[in-house]
Amino acid sequence: MKALDTAQLQALDREHHLHPFTDFKQLGEEGTRVIERAEGIYLWDSNGNKMLDAMAGLWCVNIGYGRKELAEVAYEQMQQLPFYNAFFKTTHPPAIDLAKLISEVTPAHMNHVFFCGSGSEANDTVFRMVRRYWDLKGKPNKKTFISRINAYHGSTVAGASLGGMGYMHEQGDLPIPGIVHIAQPYWFKEGGDLSPEEFGIKAAQALEEKILELGEDSVAAFIAEPIQGAGGVIVPPETYWPEIKRILDKYDILLVVDEVICGFGRTGHWFGSDYYGLKPDLMPIAKGLSSGYLPIGGVVVGERVAETLIEEGGDFNHGYTYSGHPVSAAVAAANIRILRDEGIVDRVREETGPYLQKRWRELADHPLVGEVRGVGLVGALELTNDKAARTRFDDKGSTGTLCRDFCFNNGLVMRATGDTMIISPPLVITKEEIDELVEKARYCLDLTAKELGVI
Ligand SMILES: *Cc1c(COP(=O)(O)O)cnc(C)c1O
Repeated sequence: MKALDTAQLQALDREHHLHPFTDFKQLGEEGTRVIERAEGIYLWDSNGNKMLDAMAGLWCVNIGYGRKELAEVAYEQMQQLPFYNAFFKTTHPPAIDLAKLISEVTPAHMNHVFFCGSGSEANDTVFRMVRRYWDLKGKPNKKTFISRINAYHGSTVAGASLGGMGYMHEQGDLPIPGIVHIAQPYWFKEGGDLSPEEFGIKAAQALEEKILELGEDSVAAFIAEPIQGAGGVIVPPETYWPEIKRILDKYDILLVVDEVICGFGRTGHWFGSDYYGLKPDLMPIAKGLSSGYLPIGGVVVGERVAETLIEEGGDFNHGYTYSGHPVSAAVAAANIRILRDEGIVDRVREETGPYLQKRWRELADHPLVGEVRGVGLVGALELTNDKAARTRFDDKGSTGTLCRDFCFNNGLVMRATGDTMIISPPLVITKEEIDELVEKARYCLDLTAKELGVI
């Protein structure tokens, strides 16, 4: 195809391309931004604008853009064996290598992985695997999943149902049966007069109340992100996870920790479960698994479930054509080696994570900012018209959209979830680049405040 200019690309995009989570008509009218290339933590659009990508694509480009080693691994693997499946008693070296490598970086009790193509497919796999487990245990009534309002677990039917996004449930009669949602640990929005510590306990106790209401005999699993990502980088109060652990120890239900965002170094630890000291039975993974260079996901399975599936399971009637795809697997393995051998995860924990959190928190003095939070290289800012009351300018999220548009037009990709501004930059970001990120964020907050007449 001969090189097209921006207007031609936008016209063709409007004619033929339906975008994810998009008002198609509105986007057609506004026109898309065409991203053409990337290097390190920067993107360039078709008009030559350079942008600092503080979202690592979509929370996934952990090793940064432009790593030629990954392109070479893919090129070689495509020539060696571009595809083979793992269905009929066959396997191939890339899937074996990746499964072994994953078991080396995951918690000690987790040594098996089931591969799929994405985070959504991983959660569909969770849905089937958990129910299969309880069937094998002779407890087929243990079917119900407890999740949380405003959780994100993907966009397939089971993924969207496990998730707690009301605007997704509205379309297509979701959630499917057997999935219930409890309150989320979102203090800024829902904490009322309670301290964050009190609120964390209260939000966690919703789990115990729900277990008692449904009856332990009907509950299969609790599923949660360590830190809710798409929901607005909701870092739970410090009391939350310890109280959840206390409750889980009391009842015989599985813990599914959705590591699709927190996994592979985001918090400065390999997994969010390491950061919070959790012992998951299952961990859906994707995104940072390949740093987004090729699509791949998986479910990491802990001893308890793996032993039952292996020893007592017989056939597990589930899988995907692309489960363990050789090229994706080879690229993911190379990505994990880069994260490990270049000390990238360690650097996030020791150096760049603490530095980002220190600089990011300086934004708390801005007149629009009601709360600053984050862990490692993920963070959020709450925009407010009243810092003490924690209220919004309106209930439509228009302040967040305004700020996000200023960011995009001033060389910073920072995302808005309602009036919460969120960042999740590549893990290779340097201290100088963190300075640039925070300065650009402050500048765009100023532009937003001026537009609103606040300063
Ligand atoms: C992105 C995401 C998913 C879904 O992953 P896809 O690859 O988009 O299907 C699931 N869970 C969490 C926590 C996510 O952030």
